[in-house]
Amino acid sequence: MSKIYLCLKCMKIYDNESLAPSKSPYYKVCPDLYCDNREMFEIDENMIPIIIKLNDKGFKTKFCCSGHVFEPLDIYVKFDDNLINNINMYIRLNLMPKLPEFFMIEGDSIRLKKRGLVNNEFKYFTVGKYNEYMIKSFDEIIDISDTQVYINKINYMNDCIQSLYNWIDEIWDISKYKDIVNEKGFIIYEKL
Ligand SMILES: [Zn+2]
Repeated sequence: MSKIYLCLKCMKIYDNESLAPSKSPYYKVCPDLYCDNREMFEIDENMIPIIIKLNDKGFKTKFCCSGHVFEPLDIYVKFDDNLINNINMYIRLNLMPKLPEFFMIEGDSIRLKKRGLVNNEFKYFTVGKYNEYMIKSFDEIIDISDTQVYINKINYMNDCIQSLYNWIDEIWDISKYKDIVNEKGFIIYEKL
């Protein structure tokens, strides 16, 4: 399957085959005549709607991953600079809905959480019809001969991505607000 690249400047997507070779192992030059983006990155197809919507709403992203069947499970969206601190604060101030229950803020990213303390026991988080044992198996490179585990992992990844998309659909449009810090150091949000 060919790789898909998303340009976050002109918001167009390209097939790797249509792009000129690049010196960078990570970035490509956007071929659009009116776009000067030289840092176009590869994107997992099922993350495209999430990344486009986030950027449309003013939440500039860097990298992301939708999880892969043949890798330990990891789903994340990495944000530009200090944006994650703002997201964290907006959530705490109830200006933004809480993250989907199985996602967390980690470093500069929103990331799927897999393990944590439940009643003082370190456990895998279970979501929907998935039990702890199944999720534990997704954290390893799965055996292709075990078709049910394979399908379960794909379904689980899709459920997680769906919940992330629903959250993004609900969050307000940051580009329509500005942050003003008053003399006491509090942040006030004002509609533009
Ligand atoms: Zn472009």
